[in-house]
Amino acid sequence: MNPFDNAMSQLEKAAKIINLDKNILSFLSYPERTITANLMIKMDKGDLRTFSAYRVQYNSACGPYKGGIRFHPQVNLEEVKALAFWMTIKTALVNIPMGGGKGGVVVDTKSLSEKEVERIARSWIRAFRDVIGPKKDIPAPDIYTNPKIMSYMVDEYSKLVNRPSLGVVTGKPLEKGGSKGRGSATAQGGFYVLEEVLKERKLNHKPSIAIQGFGNAGSIIAKLLYAAGYKVVALADSKGAFYDKKGINIEKVLEYKEENKTLKGFAMAKEIEQEELLKLNIDILIPAALENQINKDNVESIKAKIILELANGPTTFEAEKILNKKEVIIIPDVLANSGGVIVSYFEWLQNLKDKYWTEEGVNSKLREKIIKAWQETSRVAKKHNTNLRTAAFIVALERIKEKVNNKS
Ligand code: NAD
Repeated sequence: MNPFDNAMSQLEKAAKIINLDKNILSFLSYPERTITANLMIKMDKGDLRTFSAYRVQYNSACGPYKGGIRFHPQVNLEEVKALAFWMTIKTALVNIPMGGGKGGVVVDTKSLSEKEVERIARSWIRAFRDVIGPKKDIPAPDIYTNPKIMSYMVDEYSKLVNRPSLGVVTGKPLEKGGSKGRGSATAQGGFYVLEEVLKERKLNHKPSIAIQGFGNAGSIIAKLLYAAGYKVVALADSKGAFYDKKGINIEKVLEYKEENKTLKGFAMAKEIEQEELLKLNIDILIPAALENQINKDNVESIKAKIILELANGPTTFEAEKILNKKEVIIIPDVLANSGGVIVSYFEWLQNLKDKYWTEEGVNSKLREKIIKAWQETSRVAKKHNTNLRTAAFIVALERIKEKVNNKS
């Protein structure tokens, strides 16, 4: 499914319940601005290659555009639009003074050297320098981009504007103006919300958990869950999936991944097909990779009772209808993975004020913000007798509506 169509179906469902003004609905049905670029890169061997690059500035009603940059071979404009739209909903839901944006480059970074990836990162900044900036549009990491890539970006931008400009991107390394707690923020936020949901929905046994994706979001939530005594029984990355019904030692997996850069070949659990992971008889499923993973072709086989969407857009609109009938609780992406943008906002504030917070301080403010968003979502879901995604959208839409009305 086209992820942007998926996003628009979600929007229309929420808009209908609150009878959203049709002009505001129309305003939110298109990006404010879409910029494409063709990056020309000199490869290590001296040949030239071009890469398609995007920035979608979806909506700025609540503040400057905010959202990550994805480096992936499947990046396309419809995907970037969807991701930028979800950022708009997410920033409004968690009530930070920012709007929604997203960027990307169509590239398979695994086939490139580090220097080539660096050239792409710097070239992306040169291509979009006029439309980004600490008060305009602030990118961050996403799939296959990381703090190191952010440090190239901030360095390139600072050179272009002839002054240090730390606030132009977030998710930077600590020594380059990053925030303590940013690396773990997406997973940490998801963990806080999951604990709240589990308090309400008491399971009479230790829940079993499967995690799809073992990067920033997936590996860190695995670590947090393992440290808190939960039983993670299955894991997958792009190359392989593993299962052990007794629970997997996550510390050992992290060591293995550190050494081998992949889970492939990990011998302490049984290797399974990647698709099988989604269908296991488990309590909690955590998609933490790409969009559209839970779809009409596999939804009938999903047995999890709770889905924590750390990935953006992992569940299609059609699949969600079926899961709702089965009373599966879906903690939607705009809430579940909002810890990333919340702490990105904290990082931006720290950069602007040149005052840095402790990790405990960051985590306690993160917890406060995300739990507030969870409580509002949960209250609105009960009020309108709707699912958590639609409720989260309603909270966000009411906030955007107010901003638009105050501005006009
Ligand atoms: P990442 O690049 O650190 O990790 C991606 C992981 O997904 C890797 O382990 C990769 O091997 C795995 N993967 C890719 N294709 C797969 C497949 N077909 N099956 C199983 N695993 C696969 O990226 P990330 O930052 O962890 O992002 C993951 C998801 O979380 C994305 O949807 C992203 O938009 C979302 N997210 C990330 C952040 C953040 O702060 N990093 C914030 C909000 C949302």
